[in-house]
Amino acid sequence: MTGAWSGRVVMNERARLAKRLPAPCCRCGKPVLPGQKWHVDHYPIPREFGGTETHPAHEHCNTSEGGKRGAAITNARRQPTASAAMRPERDRGIRGI
Ligand SMILES: [Zn+2]
Repeated sequence: MTGAWSGRVVMNERARLAKRLPAPCCRCGKPVLPGQKWHVDHYPIPREFGGTETHPAHEHCNTSEGGKRGAAITNARRQPTASAAMRPERDRGIRGI
């Protein structure tokens, strides 16, 4: 069972993990400090494979490693509303994908 990883669940998980900061980033091992940008990361098992264990990861680490796949899924699911759709092409910068 996977359960819904919705906004409220993420918020709760984030609040739970936030109390543990500083804690090691599950991707790079360096501390995630309060005030840094960080994500709730499903690690070591990605959520789509049934992982339920979560750890803090730096935003950069999460989006640059396994996060790429997760972000692709998230972005596909997160259909187009304001932010992406309404921004002019020139403001999006170069997407190196
Ligand atoms: Zn990290």
